[in-house]
Amino acid sequence: MTDKHQSFETLAIHAGQEADAATGAVVTPIYQVSTYKQDGVGGLRGGYEYSRSANPTRTALEENLAALEGGRRGLAFASGLAAEDCLLRTVLAPGDHVVIPNDAYGGTFRLFSKVVEAWGVQWSVADTSDPAAVRAGLRPNTKVVWVETPSNPLLGITDIAAVAAIARGAGARLVVDNTFASPYLQQPLALGADVVVHSTTKYMGGHSDVVGGALVTADAELGEQFAYHQNAMGAVAGPFDAWLVMRGIKTLAVRMDRHCANAARVAEMLASHPKVTQVLYPGLPSHPGHETAAKQMRAFGGMVSFRVAGGEEAAVEVCNRAELFTLGESLGGVESLIEHPGRMTHASAAGSALEVPSDLVRLSVGIESVDDLLADLSQALG
Ligand SMILES: *Cc1c(COP(=O)(O)O)cnc(C)c1O
Repeated sequence: MTDKHQSFETLAIHAGQEADAATGAVVTPIYQVSTYKQDGVGGLRGGYEYSRSANPTRTALEENLAALEGGRRGLAFASGLAAEDCLLRTVLAPGDHVVIPNDAYGGTFRLFSKVVEAWGVQWSVADTSDPAAVRAGLRPNTKVVWVETPSNPLLGITDIAAVAAIARGAGARLVVDNTFASPYLQQPLALGADVVVHSTTKYMGGHSDVVGGALVTADAELGEQFAYHQNAMGAVAGPFDAWLVMRGIKTLAVRMDRHCANAARVAEMLASHPKVTQVLYPGLPSHPGHETAAKQMRAFGGMVSFRVAGGEEAAVEVCNRAELFTLGESLGGVESLIEHPGRMTHASAAGSALEVPSDLVRLSVGIESVDDLLADLSQALG
C-alpha cells in the first residue's frame, strides 16, 4: 500500500502499482489489448471498455505520475507535445492570450507559433526569470502563463512561487514544464502551479528508448477535463510505452543523483577551461538563478550548456570531436549526449525571439564514470 506521505523513492516504485489482481505479478503487466469483454451489455469488469479511454498499464503509470508530482490526476500521452496540445486545447479558447518564456523548448515554441496561433490564440514572449517581466506581459485576456525551469537550452531559472502568485492574481493558470528537473528535483504544484507538463521521453523514461508525455494537476475538475480531451483527441500512451516509462521511473531518484553529481563536476571543469567563455549551469554560484534554484530544487540537474571561444564553427567542431558524448538530440538518458542547439534542437527558433547563441553547446550529462566524461570533453575542446 502507498500513501501520499511516503517519500519520493518509495512512491516511485509503488504508487499505482499494486500486485496484479489477476495473477499476483509484482510488476504491472503490459496489457497489450484494445478492447475488453463485457459481462452483459455495459457490464464492465474493471471499468475498462476500450484502451483509448483507459488501459490498466496506462492507469498504473497515470496514478504513479500523480503521486510523484503531489497531484490528484495524472495523464499519460504519446509524446510531450501531445500532452501540451491536449492541455492547451482544454484550458484555452480562440481569443485567449498566453505568455510564453523567451527560451522555451523549440517544439513548444513551434506548437504555439505555428499551430495554436492558427487556432486563434494570441501569444507573447517574456523573460520569465524576471517576475516583473511576466507581470508586464499580462493582458486582460491572458489565460495561461507558461514556464520552463530549468529552461532548454539556456538553463534559465524561473521562481515558480513568485510567478504563480502573479498568474493567480490575474486569473491566469500557471503551467510548468518540469521535464528538465523531474519531480524528484522539483515539485511545481506544491509551489502554486496549476498544471505540470512532462516529456517523459527524457529523465522519467531515462533510457532513450521511448517517447511519451504527461500532464499532472491537483485540480480534480481540471483533471476530469483533461481526461475527457485525452480520450476525445486520442494521443494516448500505448501500453508498452507506458510500461517503459514506469520501469524508468523506478530508478529515477538514483539516476538523478548521479546525473546531478556528474553535471556539477562537468560544469566545474568547463568553468575553468580556457576555450569556454561561459558555462550555463544553475549549480554554479555565478548563475543568475542559483539562489532561486537552490530554494525550489533538491539539486541542480543533469543539463549543462556552455559557449565556446571562436564562435559557431568552434562550437560545431567540439560537438563533432566528442566521442563518448554521443552527438544527438534529446536528453535525460543514462548515456551522455552533446548537441549544437542553433543547428539542431532549436533550429526552428532561428530569427525569432527564441533564437539561441550560435556558439552554444548543450550537454545531457549521463551516468557514466565522470572521469571518462571529463576526459572526452577535454579532448573535444582540444
Ligand atoms: C523534449 C521536450 C518536450 C517535448 O516532448 P516530446 O516527448 O519530444 O514530444 C517538451 N519540453 C521539453 C523541455 C523537452 O525537453
